[in-house]
Amino acid sequence: MRTRTGRRNPLGPRAKKRFGQHFLEPVWVAKVVDAIGAAPHDIFLEIGPGRGALTTALAPYVRQVIAVEIDRDLAAALPGRVPPNVRVVIGDFLDVDLDALLEGTPLPIRVAGNLPYNVASPILFRLLEAADEGQRFRDATLMLQKEVAERLVAVPGSAGYGALAIQVRLLADVDRLLTLPPGAFRPPPKVTSALVRLRFRAASADIGDPAAFERVVRGLFRQRRKTLLNALRPVAAGFGCSAEQALDRARLNPTRRPETLTVDDVARLTRAVL
Ligand code: SAM
Repeated sequence: MRTRTGRRNPLGPRAKKRFGQHFLEPVWVAKVVDAIGAAPHDIFLEIGPGRGALTTALAPYVRQVIAVEIDRDLAAALPGRVPPNVRVVIGDFLDVDLDALLEGTPLPIRVAGNLPYNVASPILFRLLEAADEGQRFRDATLMLQKEVAERLVAVPGSAGYGALAIQVRLLADVDRLLTLPPGAFRPPPKVTSALVRLRFRAASADIGDPAAFERVVRGLFRQRRKTLLNALRPVAAGFGCSAEQALDRARLNPTRRPETLTVDDVARLTRAVL
C-alpha cells in the first residue's frame, strides 16, 4: 500500500469500512491494556487485532495471544510486527471453529477486542454462548459503542434497559471500565466508545429453555411501553397459553412494564409459558 506521495504506508492498508476498522491511537493503548489487567499465565483470544496496536502491547505481559483477524491484508502484515507468542489466525470470529482453534490450549482463556461496531452484537452473543459458563472463556474485555455499553449495565426501569441487558446478564457480570472519545481511534468513528468487561459464569436463573427465554425477552421488549399483560399476549399465544395464566404462575403484576423486569422475573415468566 502506497501513500499519495508514492511512499509505502508504514501502517499498512487503508482502513476498511466494511470491517468496522477504527484503529486505537497509541496514547490510548496503554490505558486499555492497563484496564485489561493481564497476568503472565494468561492466554488471550483477541478478536480483530487489526494493525496489532493492542496485540503488541498486551503480548509481552501474557503467555500467548491468539489473534483472529478477518481482513487478510492486515492478518498477513501482522506476523512481522507482533511478538513471537502471538498466533495470528485469518478468519471471521463469528464462524471460526473454536474447538479446533483452542485445541491443546489450557482453558479457561481470556478474550479481548476493540470490536467492529457493525457486528458487535452477534460477537457478544457468540461469546456468551461459547464461554461455556466461564469454563472456556473466563472474561472478555471489549470496546463497544458507548450506547451499547450503557445498555449492558443499565438497571431495570432505566432508559437503556432491555433485551440486551437481560440476555447478557443472565450469563455474565458486566463492568464498565473506560470511556473513549472518537479521537482515540483513527479514523475516528462517529460515536463515543466504552470499554467493558464481561465475567462469564453459570446462568443466574433457571430459564427452562434458552430458545424460549430468547423468544420471551425479545417479544416483551418489542412492546416495552405497554403493560406486561398486553406485551405478553402475543408471546404467550405463540406458546399456546394465556398471558393472564402465565403472569399468575410467575407471580408478576400484569400492570408492570416489561422494562422493570429483572433477569429472574423473565426466567420465571419463561418457565410459566412452557
Ligand atoms: N484491534 C485493532 C485496534 O484496536 O487498533 C483494530 C480494531 S478495529 C475497530 C476492528 C478489527 O476487527 C479490524 O481489524 C477488523 O478487520 C476486524 N474484524 C472485523 N470483523 C471481524 C470478524 N468478524 N472477525 C474477526 N475480525 C474482525
